Amino acid sequence: MKITMLGTGAAFVDPDRAQSGVLVTLDNGRHYLFDCGAGITRNMVRANVSPADVPFVFLTHLHHDHICDFPLFTITGWMWNRQGSPIVVGPKGTKDFCSRLFEGGAFHTDYEARSHYPARQRNLEAMKPDVRECSPGIAYQDEHATITCDWVEHIPREVSECFGVRMEADGKSVAFSGDTAPCEAMVKLAAGADLLVHECTFPEAFIEHRKKTGVGIFAHTSPTELGIIAKRAGVKALVATHFGHFESTSPVIKNAGKLHFPVELMGPQLMDDVVRDIRKNYAGPLHIAHDLMRVDL
Ligand SMILES: [Zn+2]
Ligand SMILES: [Zn+2]
Repeated sequence: MKITMLGTGAAFVDPDRAQSGVLVTLDNGRHYLFDCGAGITRNMVRANVSPADVPFVFLTHLHHDHICDFPLFTITGWMWNRQGSPIVVGPKGTKDFCSRLFEGGAFHTDYEARSHYPARQRNLEAMKPDVRECSPGIAYQDEHATITCDWVEHIPREVSECFGVRMEADGKSVAFSGDTAPCEAMVKLAAGADLLVHECTFPEAFIEHRKKTGVGIFAHTSPTELGIIAKRAGVKALVATHFGHFESTSPVIKNAGKLHFPVELMGPQLMDDVVRDIRKNYAGPLHIAHDLMRVDL
């Protein structure tokens, strides 16, 4: 099993990171995509994988940084001759989201125009996602893999469900947090996993600042909390990802971030603090994610 980090950033557009996306490739070559944030389709191609060859997408939640590229991923798959509908598993609202995109939706003109090509008429199913809204428990199963999910704590559930997941395949297990505050559900999903890919959006210094200034509702996991989760779950290796631009040197991000972050603290040195704080509790193998980073299990 191969895990490729297609996107490792968060909600701001970041010159150095695409938004969320993780691609799992089984030993038999079958691909499973988890989240579809802006930039991940391009990174998928950079990783030498065609979107047309990825039959399965799990959307952990419907924040834009986890779904923005879904139209591009789907249209590219259609143009590149995907056969059949992509399977899309996600929270309540996923059917509504997908139904408003293509035929009769936001990209109707593109759909209509491109449908006139005979070649594109031959695989119109590629533009009709097979959407399955999931509930805690087994979210998806085929002859190669089993994916279980549970609610995590990120957005109030009455507004939108958010899922963490665990995938079992090739005799290995890998868990993905999506976005979440520290929660018991994620400890259980990740229990004994060969790999945990977990969000780690802000360093402690940012979290303190956001608490003091009341910016946003804090619903992410700090590096210290992530170390505790990885230790309690007994994972064999950890990938920290979904970094909230704190290390950026971009003047545009620094300017835009003024309302959100203590921009005077921003810089690459903060990643050392992140590692130090994860290490307070977790001593196992640790990967600080970057786009196109690959972990083989
Ligand atoms: Zn996010
Ligand atoms: Zn989110």
